[in-house]
Amino acid sequence: MARVQYTDWTVPVSQVGSRAGQRMELDRTFPAPPGIGDSIVGVDEGADIHVDGRFDSIVDGLIFTGTFTAPVHAVCSRCDTPLDGDWSEQVTAFFPYAEEQPDAKRGGKQDDDVEVIAGEDEAEDVYPLIDNGSFADLETLIRDTFVDALPLQPLCRPDCKGLCPQCGADLNEEPDHHHETTDIRFAGLEALKTQLEAQQGGEDTDGSSDEH
Ligand SMILES: [Zn+2]
Ligand SMILES: [Zn+2]
Repeated sequence: MARVQYTDWTVPVSQVGSRAGQRMELDRTFPAPPGIGDSIVGVDEGADIHVDGRFDSIVDGLIFTGTFTAPVHAVCSRCDTPLDGDWSEQVTAFFPYAEEQPDAKRGGKQDDDVEVIAGEDEAEDVYPLIDNGSFADLETLIRDTFVDALPLQPLCRPDCKGLCPQCGADLNEEPDHHHETTDIRFAGLEALKTQLEAQQGGEDTDGSSDEH
């Protein structure tokens, strides 16, 4: 038998797992598991994640429904404004009784293929109970919930104008902000444009004088 790992996120559920139609309330704070987000947007490892919900037992497992609330750190990806705050997610997940030890049954390659295909459809919100249905492990569910929920590029508002690329001024606060001096990267182009315009003007003058 594989050794069962009990962690900060394992919850004893054997009291509702014995038969269908029972309910167990869960109102507890868990430490945030590692791997939720990054320095732009995420939840710090070990931060308090409040879980408020319930396990309901059905024939082949437990249904968890509830709310996860986590302190999310974030900065606007355009203007760096801090957007820290509590973030709540509604969660529904299925914790089936593990039918048997996966290693004991799985052998051939075909089985693996079938498992992968089935997993694409239904594995996302399914977290098998461990130790013969005695414990639910919330670590993966907590991580998945917030990894899925957090935006890749958080914005302080949908139309954030960001920062001036030259001086870093906040363009939301200074909508008319601009620089008089020409950017050195465009100085050469400006000179060329002036030159072309001068040539163009000369040709036009020549052409009109020829016609008349
Ligand atoms: Zn912004
Ligand atoms: Zn500027």
